[in-house]
Amino acid sequence: MRHWRLILLGLGVIALGYLVHRFLPPQHNPLRPPSLIEPIGLATYGKLTALKYDEELCREKLIEAGVEFEVLRADGAEKKCPLDETLRLKRSLTPFNAAPLRMTCHQMAALHIWERHVLRPQAEKIFGSPLRQIETYGSFSCRNISGTRTRSQHSYANAIDISGFVLEDGTQISVQRHWRERSDAGKYLGRVHKKACRLFSTTLGPDYDAAHADHFHLDMGSVETCR
Ligand SMILES: [Zn+2]
Repeated sequence: MRHWRLILLGLGVIALGYLVHRFLPPQHNPLRPPSLIEPIGLATYGKLTALKYDEELCREKLIEAGVEFEVLRADGAEKKCPLDETLRLKRSLTPFNAAPLRMTCHQMAALHIWERHVLRPQAEKIFGSPLRQIETYGSFSCRNISGTRTRSQHSYANAIDISGFVLEDGTQISVQRHWRERSDAGKYLGRVHKKACRLFSTTLGPDYDAAHADHFHLDMGSVETCR
């Protein structure tokens, strides 16, 4: 009799697992393959982190999302910061003011999700205007974290600094000028910063320290911080 109860319990667990897997939206289901097109969900960050270990799948997902890039071979040009293969962003949904942007694949994937599912829809929602341009101070840079002897994630092409945004109607949104301001620009910056924390390992803004007073630092390194 006890045997039958255990068998029934086991079958119940399997059936429940199947139903969850079958009907849970893919963005919340860690067993579903990643997609940069689906909305941000509970499993998005885990899937992005997993892309770090599957370069081929990561590039496939960027292509599927319409991101154009060029593969840069490890050329040994920067002796202090040798890189493995990295990507140069050629085209995403929104132009960036600075080029070239050299990044690891999973960093580019996180950036694309932020752009597609946060930056663009929030611009429409708050200002009623499409996003025209993303302003950046750059991605790859062979240097240490300011004031330390530790290599910055920028030196691994695994980070980007974002200083502001320009909308189609000409509105300028600047991290330096509008952070914490009680205005639509301030609201926009607060929201996109908060949502970046769900995608990148590290998100730093002006509240972190004076070195970040004019930009958001976003990276996919191993340290998890949201400040
Ligand atoms: Zn930075």
